[in-house]
Amino acid sequence: MNILVLGSGGREHTFAWKIAQSPLCKSLFVAPGNSGTSKIAVNLPIAVTDFQAIKNAVIKNKIDMVVVGPEDPLVQGIHDFFLNDDTLKHVTVIGPQKAAAELEGSKEFAKKFMMRHNIPTAAYESFTAANLEEGYAFLEKLQAPYVLKADGLAAGKGVLILNDLEEAKTELKHMLVDSKFGNASTKVVIEEFLDGIELSCFVLTDGKDYKILPTAKDYKRIGEGDTGLNTGGMGAISPVPFATDDFLQKIETRIVRPTIEGLKKDNLPYVGFVFIGLIKVGDDPKVIEYNVRMGDPETEVVLPRLKTDIVEIFKAMGNETLSEINLDIDSRAATTIMLVSGGYPEAYEKGKEIIGLETITDSIPFHAGAQLKDGKIVTSGGRVMAITSFGDTYQQAIKKSYHSIDKLCFDKMYFRKDIGFDL
Ligand code: ATP
Repeated sequence: MNILVLGSGGREHTFAWKIAQSPLCKSLFVAPGNSGTSKIAVNLPIAVTDFQAIKNAVIKNKIDMVVVGPEDPLVQGIHDFFLNDDTLKHVTVIGPQKAAAELEGSKEFAKKFMMRHNIPTAAYESFTAANLEEGYAFLEKLQAPYVLKADGLAAGKGVLILNDLEEAKTELKHMLVDSKFGNASTKVVIEEFLDGIELSCFVLTDGKDYKILPTAKDYKRIGEGDTGLNTGGMGAISPVPFATDDFLQKIETRIVRPTIEGLKKDNLPYVGFVFIGLIKVGDDPKVIEYNVRMGDPETEVVLPRLKTDIVEIFKAMGNETLSEINLDIDSRAATTIMLVSGGYPEAYEKGKEIIGLETITDSIPFHAGAQLKDGKIVTSGGRVMAITSFGDTYQQAIKKSYHSIDKLCFDKMYFRKDIGFDL
């Protein structure tokens, strides 16, 4: 089988790494890829939303399967593009169709879906500029902190959590009237604040059945002690130590099953990953958000623990025979620590040589914002590399990752030294 992975981050390097291990994979391509994927696949210089160029590459390279990493092409309808084209119809696309991708593309759509299917989540209402005054009145009824969410995709920046009522009203106006997040904030969801600890659950579905992958917890803030600006993610751990069997059972019966049933009832075709962002409030799970793809850096800890051939799983998803697959999961813990460019998530420099990679023996370095240039691996993004390790416990795995990081460097390299210390 010839397989194309779309994307260029640590998530896509992990997908490529896992797919390359499958005897079912004949040729592997990644578009656009990075220095990590260039070692195990052919990188194609194509943007993930350039559907026409993707089509040409699929035909030229006789691609049988496309695995979509990020959300943008899904929300823009890449799966539908393949289905509506006679020359691409036969290709298996891993990622939902546009209608279902709205679960991530619109927060209001996701909230309505959860309400319709009785899936536990925070109480909410949504507003546009036309009913700004009603938005103010709703805020007055809530207790601080106030949670304001731009309805559309805002690259993980569209959620504001504010302690002051007046500030919340001002921000609501900025979002709705002054287009603070462009078109993404023409509608704003205001929701009840949920107090608890977060974790993520990942589900595979072929639209009929589902399989649950290991849980993971990521660390979003740039600073130690979970302080400072939000990032794409600074590290992750799998499994989540506080997710007991009893709690996992609640997630499955109250959230996963109704979600998959809901997709069917609503006629939302879905072949792909469902990423459910959860919060544990008391002993109960509630949904914070749906994403229609895997998380990054959660992929870097979840996929290495999956022992089953991933191409076999994807094939079964395409054929609607996922129920016949048994997931074999490594019982060891996996952790990843993200190395980032100094200054990230604000301005940072690129083009710094990454030194020491060949000395890493105890961890798997998944490349993210890193490119090959004149035979050297240099930084090309904010998040540069995710250092994944296994251990009998997550503490052991973390130790291994930090030990490996000691052997790596690039100018202004930064990473959090407290991943997992809160658990
Ligand atoms: P991501 O960057 O993960 O894609 P997003 O921009 O799609 O995030 P959400 O995941 O909905 O937005 O919210 C971002 C973060 O805000 C959550 O991870 C959580 O920490 C916090 N948050 C969101 N909703 C609530 C809530 N109702 N109560 C408390 N915290 C919340």
